[in-house]
Amino acid sequence: MPELPEVETVKAGIAPVMEGRVIARAEVNRPDLRWPFPERMAERLTGQRVLGLRRRSKYILVDLESAETLLIHLGMSGRMLVSGQMIGEFHHPHPAPAKHDHVVFHMENGARITFNDARRFGAMDLMQTARQDDHWLIRDLGPEPLGNAFNETYLVERLKGRNTPIKSALLDQRIVSGLGNIYVCEVLFRAGIHPARKAGRISAARAASLVPLIRDVLSEAIAAGGSSLRHYRQSDGELGYFQHVFQVYDRAGKPCVTHGCDKTITRIVQSGRSSFFCPQCQR
Ligand SMILES: [Zn+2]
Repeated sequence: MPELPEVETVKAGIAPVMEGRVIARAEVNRPDLRWPFPERMAERLTGQRVLGLRRRSKYILVDLESAETLLIHLGMSGRMLVSGQMIGEFHHPHPAPAKHDHVVFHMENGARITFNDARRFGAMDLMQTARQDDHWLIRDLGPEPLGNAFNETYLVERLKGRNTPIKSALLDQRIVSGLGNIYVCEVLFRAGIHPARKAGRISAARAASLVPLIRDVLSEAIAAGGSSLRHYRQSDGELGYFQHVFQVYDRAGKPCVTHGCDKTITRIVQSGRSSFFCPQCQR
C-alpha cells in the first residue's frame, strides 16, 4: 500500500511528462473507482494545460489551467505507468492496453500516463483549486509531517493527555497527515518507544524527539524513491514501488538490528493492523 514517500515518488515520476503540458485526451474507462468519478471528468480534463503537481497527505494534486484541481488517490493497489517518454535513463514504449487500465492521460507531447488499479480502492476527483481545503478528503487533515506547522511544540500539545496508544495517535490523520503503518513502526523503533504506550504517558522530551525522527524516516524513503527513479529498470514503466530496507517493519522473528541487543522483532495487532517492534529496545 503506497504511503507518503511512494506517493511523492509517483508524483516526481509523472511531473516531467505532465507539468506545463496539455492533456490532449483523457480516457476514462469506467464510471467509478472507490467512489464515482466526478461528472464529465474526461471532458473537464481534455484540452487542459497542467500548471503543476503537488502532494497533500497521500493525494497527488494536479492543478489545471481551468482553475480546477484533479485529486488522485492511489488507494491500495493503484499504479501509474508512464510511457512514450524518458523516465530517468529509460524510455518505455506504449504498452498494450491492460485489464484495470481505468484512466489514461494522453499528453500532447506523445507521453501517456496510465492509472491501473486492480482492487479499485483508488480515487479521482475534481475540485475548484481555490476551494481545495474544503474538499471532504482534505479538510480534516492535520499538518504535513515535512512542513513547518508540524513541530515539537505542536506534537507535544496534541499528544498531551491522550489515552490512545502512541501508534494510533501517529496514524490519526487529524494529528499528522500522511503517516502510515510502515513508517510509524520505523519511527517508534528509532525513538525507542513501545507502540502500545499511551500517548499521554510519554514525556514531553521523548514526544518532541519524534518530530525529527519522522522527518528523517520519510526523507530517507523519499530519497530512496528518487534514486529508484534515476535507476529506472522496470520494463513496464511502473512508478513508485521501490525496494526498502526496514529495521522492524515485516521483520517478525528476525534479530533486532540494535548493536548489543539479542532480542527478536515482535509483531502485535493494534486496531486491526500489525505493529512490529523490539521488546527490549522499545519501552
Ligand atoms: Zn532490540
